[in-house]
Amino acid sequence: MVVGAGTMGRGIAQVLVEAGFRVHLVDPVGEAAVNGRDAVRAAWARAVDRGRLDAARAAQYEAALSAARGYDAVPSPPAWVIEAASENLDLKRRLLAELDQHWEGDTRLATNTSSLTIASLQGGLGHPARLGGLHFFNPVPRMALVEVISSPATGDVWTRAAFELAAQLGKTAVAAPDRPGFLVNRLMRPFYAEALRLVEEEVARPEAVDRVMEGAGFPMGPFRLMDLVGIDVNLAVTDAVYTQTFGEPRYRPHPLQVMMRDLGWLGRKSGRGFYDYGAASPSASPEYVPDPSQPLPGGLVKGSPGFQSAWRALGLAGRLASEPPEPGLLRFVVDPEGGSEPPREAGPDTLVVVDGTRQHVGALSARWRRPVMGFDPALVLAGGRVMTVAGGWEETAARIFAPLTVVPVDDAYGQVLSRVVAVLVDEALSFRPRLDRDRVNQAVHLGVNQPRGPFEWLTLLGARRVLGVLEALGRVGGDRYRPSEDLVRAVEREAVTDA
Ligand code: NAD
Repeated sequence: MVVGAGTMGRGIAQVLVEAGFRVHLVDPVGEAAVNGRDAVRAAWARAVDRGRLDAARAAQYEAALSAARGYDAVPSPPAWVIEAASENLDLKRRLLAELDQHWEGDTRLATNTSSLTIASLQGGLGHPARLGGLHFFNPVPRMALVEVISSPATGDVWTRAAFELAAQLGKTAVAAPDRPGFLVNRLMRPFYAEALRLVEEEVARPEAVDRVMEGAGFPMGPFRLMDLVGIDVNLAVTDAVYTQTFGEPRYRPHPLQVMMRDLGWLGRKSGRGFYDYGAASPSASPEYVPDPSQPLPGGLVKGSPGFQSAWRALGLAGRLASEPPEPGLLRFVVDPEGGSEPPREAGPDTLVVVDGTRQHVGALSARWRRPVMGFDPALVLAGGRVMTVAGGWEETAARIFAPLTVVPVDDAYGQVLSRVVAVLVDEALSFRPRLDRDRVNQAVHLGVNQPRGPFEWLTLLGARRVLGVLEALGRVGGDRYRPSEDLVRAVEREAVTDA
């Protein structure tokens, strides 16, 4: 039985039927149950039309799915009751207590809550051992991940059965701890929080943030994703995590989200969110589209061997420091690991291109008395399709960074990608209990379709770079950016390996 026939309940009912279960879809509100059943039927009908599902099989599926307003209509105790009602603590506590009383015995209870802990729902139950969390991802038929959450009061029998059920449904199950936000939702908070702060601090506009994150390989930028999920839904999850962690500053909801929610600008579902879905032409951020036929001659590219080879792999302008020198005027020097002095190769008119994520280039330019531009080395290492630059020089940047699209941003610590990723990585490193790193990466791939999990970003960028960005951000943003002890340890280990 699936209780709650909204977005998630429908999807869960569908995958259960397709795995061979007989399913009762129950929802007491209006016509929700019947509408939910009809929506699942329509999905099967579309699959038949497209030749992806056999008509006879679809008829079997339809016969296995029934809809009702109340569970009194359910004839015998179900093996599983999966609760997917609205995200509201009181409602869920009441509902689960009723369900627990209604069926004695072997019926197992699961909740699909995204943000409430299982422990907070077990208090009123006569048999808390038979409740745990089965957290599906939206859209359920397409997303391969299920988080299995057991509180200390959940029984081992429940947990084993939950893993078996997930396998029967063809899903990959990952055990997630009973902490606010569980695993993926918890790890994803900074993706939204840092994006909102970037906009509010006028570092970049929403379209620019999305452009950069998508250019770095994320399937959807944070603002497009918030519009899709629903700004109200996203805010509710953030708020729940913040409240349940007694105001941990990293999870603090953003006033911008609250304003959007209050205005009813909820995203796609209301026609307007961070984007206006009724507008004739979508708003765009200023960007400089490259002309690859015009690379800037006379450039030198320094940095670690890994950085230089990533630079070359992207086909960007300039001679690598590892290649033989060339005579002639140096028009630019890229120096991502440079120190407090300008690179010795640079003349008074040479444009110096430095890591703009850990220092302000405006001040450097004044001190060095020469043109300085800040860029984000993480976009080179990640093989991105865009480059953020600060300090002006956009036209020149477009020629240096062709074929990447250049997106100008404010001269602020972390720029865009480095800032978001540094906080994502540290969130994963500070997560307790410590989880297997490959499982965490896999959960992020499967739960939110991101091509790199937090520990893959850590390997790609290196702990020192991540710590450097957090330390810079911490200078102005305070406690939210305090690094985890595991990140500091990772830097110490890197230092030993280097030595
Ligand atoms: P929804 O609003 O689409 O559906 C909720 C359904 O619950 C509605 O059909 C409503 O009629 C029904 N309902 C209300 N009171 C009820 C009651 N007393 N008994 C039974 N049903 C009742 O919401 P949704 O997005 O499907 O979310 C459902 C649950 O799944 C929530 O706990 C949510 O946090 C979680 N979840 C949502 C997503 C997502 O992306 N939407 C992802 C993972 C988990």
